[in-house]
This record gives sequence, structure tokens and C-alpha cells, in this order.
Amino acid sequence: MKVTRRNPDEQHEVAGPKPVRDVLAELDINPETVLVIHDGTLVTKDQVLPDDAEVEVRSVISGGAGGARCRGCRRPAIIEIAWHNSAFCADCFIDHVRAQVRRAIDGHAMLSYRDRIVVAVSGGKDSLALWDVLLDMGYRVDGFYLGLGIGGYSERSREVCERFAAQRGATLHVRELAEDFGFAVPDTTKDQRRSTCGVCGLSKRYAFNRVALEEGYDAMATGHNLDDEASQLLGNLLRWQVPFLSRQDVALPAGEPVPADGGHDGHAAPKLAKKVKPLYRLGEREMAAYCLIKGIDYVVEECPLVGGNTVLRYKEALNQIEAASPGTKAQFLFGFLDRVRDQHFPGEHADQAAAVVPCSECEMPTPPPDDGGRPVCAFCRTRTRMLALLERAPQGAPAATPPTASAARS
Ligand code: SF4
Ligand SMILES: [Zn+2]
Ligand SMILES: [Zn+2]
Repeated sequence: MKVTRRNPDEQHEVAGPKPVRDVLAELDINPETVLVIHDGTLVTKDQVLPDDAEVEVRSVISGGAGGARCRGCRRPAIIEIAWHNSAFCADCFIDHVRAQVRRAIDGHAMLSYRDRIVVAVSGGKDSLALWDVLLDMGYRVDGFYLGLGIGGYSERSREVCERFAAQRGATLHVRELAEDFGFAVPDTTKDQRRSTCGVCGLSKRYAFNRVALEEGYDAMATGHNLDDEASQLLGNLLRWQVPFLSRQDVALPAGEPVPADGGHDGHAAPKLAKKVKPLYRLGEREMAAYCLIKGIDYVVEECPLVGGNTVLRYKEALNQIEAASPGTKAQFLFGFLDRVRDQHFPGEHADQAAAVVPCSECEMPTPPPDDGGRPVCAFCRTRTRMLALLERAPQGAPAATPPTASAARS
């Protein structure tokens, strides 16, 4: 049979007929990290593939039950979720995803039907699936896409988001980092202080906060899933990043403006919308399966700059443990959130507005400086550095307008 791997792209010939699990073993692929697609449908581990099959093995890490029956309706299953000890048909799997999102939202008072919500979409499976689930569940939810300027990858990502929004008749806010702020993510490889992914993450958080404030949203949702949160937790624990551990949460309540004397010139910092992660109970594999079943086109390829992202290594390590002992990942994360964090890492997690003042350059909220000087937020400091670097290298991006000049193009 012809086996095509996606991300990384490879072709293999494997003799059949053979069950999916043996094909994966022969290619040394961890079944927890992929979806197997034959004839346009997902196949499960025990399903036997014929010798002339054309099979796609799609990796689901971002940066299948032949004889099994669906837990809900006893029809043949198309996907099994080892840590739930369950298999599902397509319809019941969609119900399962919605039930997990409902449990996340209700368990952490994340969203109400009165809220105006904005989802940060990247073109990847998680954020588009989140937007889709929330729309189907009847929430008032728009999208936000930030163009990072990473060549064809960013262009395809934007197209995928725009197409999804058009198909669902939903509102998508689009901003381009280079147009609004004068630098693009590839320019940040020249920066000595922060990694490329560090500047990229900071820019995404900043632009997302900003669009939420400018457009008056009540809640900001991101597509962080179980794998993202568990690997983040592992990374923070391995390095004993106590402030990050105390802040790691799946729902941050809305920030309150500080009293009028808190700002550098007597202004209160603007109120931040609450931030939620409704997919934290669902894994990467479940989100990729959701997109395939719902026919959501997403960007399968990885960001070409992902090499510097250490979280990927933690994801791989957790997947190895999960393959041998299903459910470990969920116990690790949920145990921390429900029992450990507040006891052992108490702190600012519930108070994202703890002592913030307006940035003296862009007026977005930022912690007050220790030396009592002019408050300048981390993004404005990074941006100033980036523009200085680009000025020294004339082939860089054109000079930008100041960040306070809103460039709304919704
Ligand atoms: S891999 Fe790094 S540079 Fe690429 S989108 Fe993710 S955070 Fe940004
Ligand atoms: Zn079913
Ligand atoms: Zn600023």
C-alpha cells in the first residue's frame, strides 16, 4: 500500500493487507500522534488496510477501532480515544467534543450567552475548530487573525481563516503585524533578547488584547488544547517557573481598571476582557479529527520557524508516556488545575489586572516599573528594539505609524 505522511511529508510502500496498528509500528509512528485517513475517512487501529490502499498518515502535533463500536449508538466507530476508553462514530464524536467544551465552559464559568466573544484564529486546527464549536453552540463569537509575515505559510493561514469566516457568515478582524507595527516575525531572528517564538507570542497576545479592547469584547478565547496546556505545565515544572505556575489557568477573569492615581499620568489602565481556553479538555488528535469530520479546511503544515519552540519537545515526551499509559496527560493537567495550583502556587492567577498601569506609549495595561519611572509595556520595548534593528538593516520593513494609531479593518 502507498502511505503518505503529512507534516513531515514522506512517501512509504508497505506490504498489505495489514491492520493500521502494524502499519504504524512498521513505520515507527506513535499512534497517539497521528490520524490515519483511508478513502477520505478516518480509520482506527484494528482496521485492516488492503494491499492496494492509499493511506494518509497525518501528524496532529502543532508546534484510530476496526471491530470497535461507538460508545453512544453502537454503530461502527471511526475514532477511538484511549484515555476515555471509548470509541465513537462521527456524529457521536461531534457530540463528545461539544460535551467536553460545555464541561470546560460551565466548570470554570468561562462564557455566557450574553458575552460578545472573540477567538484568536491562526488557520490551524484548534482555533478554527473552537470557532466552529462555539458558533454551533449558539455563542456570539467573532474571529481575529494576526498576519505574522511568515511568507507563504502566513498567506495560506490568512486565506483559510477568511474562507472559514465567509462560509459561516462570521465576522473576522484581520491585522498585519508589519503594517500596524513596522516589523514582521522573521525580522525578529535578529533580536538578541527574545527568541523568535517569544516575540511572536508577545505580539499575538498584544494584538489580541488590543483588538478586544478596541472592539469592546467581553471575552477572548484561544484554541489551547489539552496537549498545549499539559506541555506548558511540564515545561514550567521542569524549570520551576513559579510565577508562571501560579498564573497557569484555563480561565482568567476580566481585569478591573486600577484606581485613578495608579497610572503614570493619573489615567486608569483600560479593562482587559476575560480570557478563556474552552478546548483544554480535548487533545490535538481530537481537534484534528473534529476538523476532518466537519470538513473544516485548516493549515496542516507547521510554521517554518517552529524549530526554536521547546514546547514541542515536551509534547513528544508526554505523548510517549501517554502511549504507554493513557490518561496520564489529563490527570497531570486536571490534577494541577483542580487540586495543586491554589495550594502550592497561590498568587496572581485570578487577578490578571493586579496593579497594572497604562503604557506611556500605547496606553495598553502593563505592570508598573519597579523604579517608579515611565511605564512602557513589553511589546512597546520590543517593538522599539526591532525598529532600531531594522533601521540599521535597510532591507527591512518600512517605518511604522505609532502603535496608538488604530488601523481597524474589520
Ligand atoms: S512556531 Fe513560533 S514563530 Fe511560528 S507561529 Fe508559533 S510562536 Fe510564532
Ligand atoms: Zn455513535
Ligand atoms: Zn505599550
